[in-house]
Amino acid sequence: MNLSKPPYRGRLAPSPTGLLHLGHARTFWTAQQRAIASGGTLVLRNEDLDPSRSRPEFVSAMLEDLRWLGIHWQEGPGCGGPFAPYSQTERRPRYLAAFEQLRTAGLIYSCTCSRRDLTGALSAPHEIDDEPLYPGTCRSNSPLHPPPPPFCWRFRVPDGETISFTDGNLGLQQFVAGRDFGDFIVWQRDDLPAYQLAVTVDDTAMRITEVVRGADLLKSTARQLLLYRSLALVPPAFYHCQLMTDDSGRRLAKRHDALSLRALRAQGATPESLRQNWT
Ligand SMILES: [Zn+2]
Repeated sequence: MNLSKPPYRGRLAPSPTGLLHLGHARTFWTAQQRAIASGGTLVLRNEDLDPSRSRPEFVSAMLEDLRWLGIHWQEGPGCGGPFAPYSQTERRPRYLAAFEQLRTAGLIYSCTCSRRDLTGALSAPHEIDDEPLYPGTCRSNSPLHPPPPPFCWRFRVPDGETISFTDGNLGLQQFVAGRDFGDFIVWQRDDLPAYQLAVTVDDTAMRITEVVRGADLLKSTARQLLLYRSLALVPPAFYHCQLMTDDSGRRLAKRHDALSLRALRAQGATPESLRQNWT
């Protein structure tokens, strides 16, 4: 019996929906440092599932910015690898298979609620974890007899169950299903896989052993752990990086163009000068 740990495999998973900023840079640098420290492999995955926001010019910009920063990946778009393709838009059959598995197990249901139904007069949330708690309106819909479109598919969370995991950076994390997050979307109204399902499928298929990403995704990790369990998959380890904020304490986002790597580079920043502040 071989009890040795599998070789370390980490991943960088940027979305080509804007320019990479300083927060991404620090997270990706941390991911690379952890892969190097373990003598492991770093995979680059292009998370381009959102057709309205993903653009080819952002894909090339993100590859160039990462190279400029000194990040080296061993598998990914452009260099290939044993788990290709490395762009999510080319991986649809894999997501569909997992979706079918959840559907036939009766773990998901169709939901016809519009965004307006769910958020009322409030503006739409921009970040995944601002998602309002789904009230369960469509929970009794049969997974075998979907309504006429449009509808999405939601995962029925085990209300009241505490989902715990030990984060490699932030320690013990606990979220209560049905209170901290509700039934979440696994397949979207526009017939595309949702983020939670796609990354769970990809991290498994690409044999990722540790996921390094921003702390804004802690709650998503709890959701994904439910998907791992439901699909009888073994989850990777998780290491969430503290979020970077701007001078007024707001979290960095792609709208902060002034802090994009492009802008900083144009102002004379070097990769070394950026990294000086990351200790
Ligand atoms: Zn609904």
